Order: sequence, then C-alpha cells, then structure tokens
Amino acid sequence: MQIVFIGPPGSGKGTQAERIVQKYGIAHLSTGDMLRAARDAKTAVGVEAERYMAAGELVPDDIIVAIIAERLEQPDCRNGYLLDGIPRTIGQAEALGRMLQEKGTSLDCVLELKVPEDELFRRLAGRGRADDQPEVIRQRLLAYYEQTEPLLDYYRKQGLLKRIDGVGTIDEIFQRAEAVLDAYAH
Ligand code: AMP
Repeated sequence: MQIVFIGPPGSGKGTQAERIVQKYGIAHLSTGDMLRAARDAKTAVGVEAERYMAAGELVPDDIIVAIIAERLEQPDCRNGYLLDGIPRTIGQAEALGRMLQEKGTSLDCVLELKVPEDELFRRLAGRGRADDQPEVIRQRLLAYYEQTEPLLDYYRKQGLLKRIDGVGTIDEIFQRAEAVLDAYAH
C-alpha cells in the first residue's frame, strides 16, 4: 500500500497516520519528523531547514526531494508506506511521481483529511510546539492554502483523491480512513 496523506496543520493528521501505519503494517514517512530530527542532530540539512521551519515557511523542494528519495530506498518501505507532510507543492508531487515511475510503481491513493479553518487555529493554538506561536501558525496555514491545496486538484484529476471528514473523535475519523484504505490492503 503506497499512500499520500494530506491535511492542514492541526488536522490531526499525525495521530491518524500513527494508527493507519500500525493497522496496515506500512512505514510512516513524515518529512516534518525527519526535518526536526535533522535539526536536533545539527546536520547540514537540519541547520539549513531550521531557518524555514522557524518561520513557518516551506523548506525548498530540492532538500525535501533528496531526503525522501533516500528514505524510500530503506528496506522498511518495501511493504508500502504512508507519506505524511509530503508532497507539499506541485513541484514535490511531480518529483515524487518521477521517482515512483523510475521504480516501476505508483501511488494507490491520496487521502485528504478535511477540517474547517477556524477549528484548525483553535487546535494549533492549544498545542504548544515551538512553531505553534500565533504568527507562525498563521504562516503555516497560509503556506498550506497557497502551496498545498492546489495539490488536491492535481491528484483529483489523476483519479487518486479520497476525502474524509476530519471532525469527530479519533476513533470516528480512523473508521472513515479504514473505510477508504481497506480497499488497498492485501
Ligand atoms: P509538519 O510537521 O509536517 O507540519 O512540518 C513542519 C515544518 O517542516 C513545516 O512548517 C515546513 O517548514 C517543514 N516541512 C515539512 N515537510 C515539508 C515539505 N514536504 N516541504 C517543505 N517543507 C516541509
């Protein structure tokens, strides 16, 4: 199973991603987690990425594409994976498509978690991560609506987009995800 999981900051995507990868036995590839680990380890990539992350802006595509290309080669990706936080731009989606095509494979589906904007701001303001300051939250939501939302159309045209309602309890939302994803499990 090879899926992309898209949802705005604060949509509960991380929580649902954990449950999905556990149920289907696939790798969880979160570029946010990878970048935070690189930042904390003070690698060259991490130091460069931190300038963008601290401002709520997207890290340049070439850095992200290099990170994910390397990650997809790891043995735990052979059973499939859930991409969480990538692609964030059309450029990243195109690079990902080319990477998969070179391997003779493709995505099964793109799952979108839908949550209204006022609800997102409320949730993010209560979370307390370093990039959850009000100004940075606003910037991250802006980056999502300007750069990531166009991806939904891109994948809809390819017939890959499945949308689920992200308002409800964790269990309710997970059941909606399962109703879509069970079709791709084997
Ligand atoms: P996240 O945990 O997915 O919300 O990511 C936190 C921050 O990491 C984002 O605000 C971006 O600065 C950066 N980031 C994570 N994934 C990407 C990506 N695919 N492209 C660009 N920047 C990213």
